[in-house]
Amino acid sequence: MNVDVIELSGSRAQFVLSGVSPAFANALRRSMMAEVPSLAIDDVNIYENTSVLYDEALALRLGLIPLKTDLDSYVLRSECKCEDGCPRCQVSLTLSAEGPKTVYSGDIQSSDPKVVPVETNIPIIKLKKDQKLALEAIARLGKGKDHAKWQPAVACGYKNLPKIVISGCDGCGACVDVCPKGILELNETVVVKDEIKCSLCRLCEKSCESGAIKISADPASFVFSVEADGSMPCMEMIIRAADEIKKKAKALTKSLSVVT
Ligand code: SF4
Ligand code: SF4
Ligand SMILES: [Zn+2]
Repeated sequence: MNVDVIELSGSRAQFVLSGVSPAFANALRRSMMAEVPSLAIDDVNIYENTSVLYDEALALRLGLIPLKTDLDSYVLRSECKCEDGCPRCQVSLTLSAEGPKTVYSGDIQSSDPKVVPVETNIPIIKLKKDQKLALEAIARLGKGKDHAKWQPAVACGYKNLPKIVISGCDGCGACVDVCPKGILELNETVVVKDEIKCSLCRLCEKSCESGAIKISADPASFVFSVEADGSMPCMEMIIRAADEIKKKAKALTKSLSVVT
């Protein structure tokens, strides 16, 4: 297995994973989407809400605000030894506001300075004069497979690594005109500017009367494009997704060894 990083920032990553099966590539994608835990508001105690928004709609909106997640400090509720919630498995946040004002995610106060909204400018509700909001929200770790609010990967997709071979090109330029990605350029013959951007649409192949351009896909190499919601760095999310696969494989091995 080999990994070549093409782009990496706090919330985005693009990399080529090669030497793996399609099943493994898909397992990694699914693990990022569904198995890596993140913190999200799970319970809301509303003490006062005279805004135009129903309590339920307000709670739903709060649940979807991404929170900075330190997975070394918190555990899933199901894995915590406590009975009713403790500082290891939950964190309390409060929100108190009076109109006229627009309430933003940055108005939420957290009992743990490390657990704060990823962005401070997410609008929650517009309060008119004398409208009030007072609530306590409990955030817990959860997984994307249980609810989308716990999904740290907002986008995660992959495609097979494209391969473009050009041989015997007469420089007619037909393929350059049809390529929707604009990655073919005509000098004396056609040259490929950025092979990874190829969408494997094969329009160039169809337009080439001499059969000089051939498109194929490497069945064991995958170009991943990942975007995280900011609850944790993108790299951490990818590594933890791989760890989750490892954990599941170990659990499977253990159960099989009990059976045999
Ligand atoms: S397969 Fe499609 S995207 Fe790729 S080079 Fe050909 S026309 Fe462009
Ligand atoms: S269509 Fe074929 S022959 Fe014409 S420029 Fe493209 S690869 Fe060359
Ligand atoms: Zn606990």
